[in-house]
Amino acid sequence: MRTNSDVLGKFYDRYTGTDNEIKRTVYSRRINQAPIFIVASSRMLALFLGRLAIIDFLISITPGMNLLIRFLYGNATLIHKSPEDTKVVACKEDAFDLDVVFDLVVVGSGPGGSVAALRAAELGKKVLVIESGKSFSPSSIEHHSLAQTRLQFRNGGINFIWGVKPIMFAEGMTLGGGSEVNSGLYHRLEGAHRSQILKALRTSEAEWAELEVLVENELSVQLSPSGNKPDYGLVLGAEIYGLQSKEIPRWRKYGAVEQHQGMQVTYINKASRVGTQVLVNSVVQRLIPKEEYIEVNYLNSSGRQVIRGKEVILAAGTIETPRILNRSRITKIDFCLNLHPMLRAVAAQDKVINNGDLFPSWQAWTNDLKFKFGYSVSTFPYLSATLLSLGENRDFHNEKLAQLAAYFSSFVLEDSVLKLKRVGGILIPIINWGKADKKLINDASNQLYALLQAGKATEIWPQKGTSPVTTVHLFGSIPINASKVIDSFGRLRKDPRIRISDGSLMPYAPWGNPQGPIMVLCELMAKRCNKK
Ligand SMILES: Cc1cc2nc3c(=O)[nH]c(=O)nc-3n(C[C@H](O)[C@H](O)[C@H](O)COP(=O)(O)OP(=O)(O)OC[C@H]3O[C@@H](n4cnc5c(N)ncnc54)[C@H](O)[C@@H]3O)c2cc1C
Repeated sequence: MRTNSDVLGKFYDRYTGTDNEIKRTVYSRRINQAPIFIVASSRMLALFLGRLAIIDFLISITPGMNLLIRFLYGNATLIHKSPEDTKVVACKEDAFDLDVVFDLVVVGSGPGGSVAALRAAELGKKVLVIESGKSFSPSSIEHHSLAQTRLQFRNGGINFIWGVKPIMFAEGMTLGGGSEVNSGLYHRLEGAHRSQILKALRTSEAEWAELEVLVENELSVQLSPSGNKPDYGLVLGAEIYGLQSKEIPRWRKYGAVEQHQGMQVTYINKASRVGTQVLVNSVVQRLIPKEEYIEVNYLNSSGRQVIRGKEVILAAGTIETPRILNRSRITKIDFCLNLHPMLRAVAAQDKVINNGDLFPSWQAWTNDLKFKFGYSVSTFPYLSATLLSLGENRDFHNEKLAQLAAYFSSFVLEDSVLKLKRVGGILIPIINWGKADKKLINDASNQLYALLQAGKATEIWPQKGTSPVTTVHLFGSIPINASKVIDSFGRLRKDPRIRISDGSLMPYAPWGNPQGPIMVLCELMAKRCNKK
């Protein structure tokens, strides 16, 4: 199979600001060796995982998968080599009084953890937030850059849900969690998804709506003053096909400089002003409940440490929260999982549409809310990397990239079974695809293709088949309405001093972008528990 590692080689030059032939050769050689590396790892995994991993191994030696692997490995290397001219914000990693017993220790500083920390601190509680990622000043790291992917994503954004058709997923790992790295697209719950989730949470429309407004105000959720309605691609296609489409608001402040309103500048900032302490670069290993308090064991650059809290809130995200519970032997089970699968496409127009940082916040959907479509990050390096993953080996120059935009289609899973399965003491995400969902993958992909064609695309990728399945929307590993582990307040049945506050709790797929609904849910849990 022909390898065109030159595309990524050129990114490497552009992003490192060098033109070093030797480094490029090493880099290209690594890309060529990637499949051997992956096949060897797959064989090792097969030893542990059995049949599913063997199927993955077989897939990994098929041409399409091979290409994806080259893309992944190339991208990982690229991200690793990207410059690090960013400012790390000093947070108290070391100078900490380990003898204090906190009223509350919050594990994880993403949206769920930040909500819980602020609402407890407002009641006068002595709160400590522990975060495994580092803390970067939002102004010192370019949003949607490869450097951000390397520094603020878990494993550089490359994680897998294993299965016959594996899913690649990304999670934020930094102060503020996913909220710092994401696109800030805000969705209220809609239609049947809204009533289903409100029913599962046993909350009223009035109560949910009130908390929704609270979150929107805290995050300055608003539409962009310029609108920037695209007159091509998805929006045009949606109009022609009679689909609903609209601009999606973001958590963002507009002024001389646009300011993304992640947790750092909103909830964590407020919580710090009322005394919350923050400890970064510290990975919580396990909780050990004692009679008077709960010991929180964590690892940082000073080695193993212990801090004590009268209560603990687990907010380490959909996958890490169950992992901490199992590592602590509080639970010893497999967990479920849920997500929005995303299929990608890139389309060319016959005019310049992209200045190198294109990302219109417009989305479209079918009237039955079955399929959702939107624009994706379309910076030139991301576009080229996406093209490579879609089977396009040609090396495009900036003039051509300026005519391209990336898109996604997504849906809610119907009959697949997703598990966080215990394998050798670790919870591994695995998917067993159902028939209906396999069909939905094709339908979502075909519909996006048709919309882009109607949107006057001159060329569309992937040119055959569907794109690899990816996701950044994970939730529902410990659903509030159907978990034997927690009660309706999100507290552990085994020890109510430990509570959960993150995407794990989401009872059903929210269909739209999930951070808003996850935050409203966590506000609801905080309100219920704090009232009690
Ligand atoms: C690239 C990307 C784009 C996205 N775009 C959007 C969007 O536009 N709109 C939207 O609504 N949603 C979006 N999302 C999803 C959204 O970010 C998540 O739904 C949301 O962040 C989930 O919040 P959470 O609190 O459950 O978990 P997280 O945000 O994942 O926070 C968990 C935190 O816990 C920390 N942690 C994990 N393990 C440990 C440990 N052992 N010890 C200490 N700390 C730990 C993690 O580092 C992380 O900071 C996007 C996500 C990504 C990755």
